[in-house]
Amino acid sequence: MLTHHYTVNNQKLSKQDLDTCSKLLKKGELVAFPTETVYGLGANALDPFAISKIFVVKNRPMDNPLILHVDSIEMAKKYVTDFPPIALKLATIFWPGPLTLVLNKNELVPDEATANLLTVAIRIPSHPVAISLISACGFPLAAPSANLSGKPSTTEVKHVQDDLEGLVPAIIDGGKSTFGIESTVLDLTSKIPTILRPGSTSIRQLEMVLPKVIFKDKSTSKEIAKSPGMKYTHYSPKASVIIVKGSPQNVCKKINEISDEQTGILCIKEHAHLYKKGQVIVLGSKKEPNQLASNLFESLRMFDKLKVTKILAEYPEYGELKEAVVNRLEKASGGNIIIT
Ligand code: AMP
Ligand code: MG
Repeated sequence: MLTHHYTVNNQKLSKQDLDTCSKLLKKGELVAFPTETVYGLGANALDPFAISKIFVVKNRPMDNPLILHVDSIEMAKKYVTDFPPIALKLATIFWPGPLTLVLNKNELVPDEATANLLTVAIRIPSHPVAISLISACGFPLAAPSANLSGKPSTTEVKHVQDDLEGLVPAIIDGGKSTFGIESTVLDLTSKIPTILRPGSTSIRQLEMVLPKVIFKDKSTSKEIAKSPGMKYTHYSPKASVIIVKGSPQNVCKKINEISDEQTGILCIKEHAHLYKKGQVIVLGSKKEPNQLASNLFESLRMFDKLKVTKILAEYPEYGELKEAVVNRLEKASGGNIIIT
């Protein structure tokens, strides 16, 4: 398949390109587009055949449900049995933005989009291109990350091309994603709102608005059943990732002990000079912790290009989005952690 490329200027697609891309989506085709979290692989969320293409192209496990991206609270309300006051409050505060709400779905949402769950995950993205595409289509877009399943999510168009060139008819270049980590998924169908996936809306932000919110660091089998996507190893570069956790001195000592020239080392800027061997990639500075989130997936992909044999990563527990960054790195490592 020939992939056509479109470029965003000043956060906007030209009228002609918007028309072309929305026509593709209306025909049931896939379009990769920028969002504020990561790049999304969009399809008509109401068309089971279009949805099936997402699963085939990404090689995504069929039991991993998709998020519906809508352009307004009105559009969200069309696809749920009830939009409770708590949803309205959260939507008013956090939408458009990286908070996904899980609500009870109605019959308009195909089972293929929700992996047969009775609930549906919905959000309004804040990227103007994403919103303009949804509005031009008039239907919600299912849009998981625009990468092959299992690989790091895509935060720049070159990553999307690495994974999907020739597999999709259109890729829209919107520059680097602002957040670089996916949305926070919050279940509103349980008695107490429960974070199923930490993401770019921080737990502290939710705690300021909700009287109570549950976040369990380690998924129990019950949460896994509620959010099937969380059970898979994700975001993995080619070389295996090992996280090293402990005091900065111990972590540095351990990494220097077990690394060689072919080892990739992922660390914060403040520690980079401490590593004597290996290929060091700086995730960002702990003084600007949002960098750690926005650079994570790109850094993991860079190790692929460097052809390292293993990756030793410092435990990046800094800043507002620390749970999300740690969650993605833990998934990339398959739970491989050295505590020192
Ligand atoms: P992705 O769009 O690939 O970043 O992932 C979507 C995430 O949302 C996965 O972790 C899914 O398990 C989760 N998700 C989507 N729909 C639902 C739902 N109806 N209930 C719970 N989790 C969901
Ligand atoms: Mg994904």
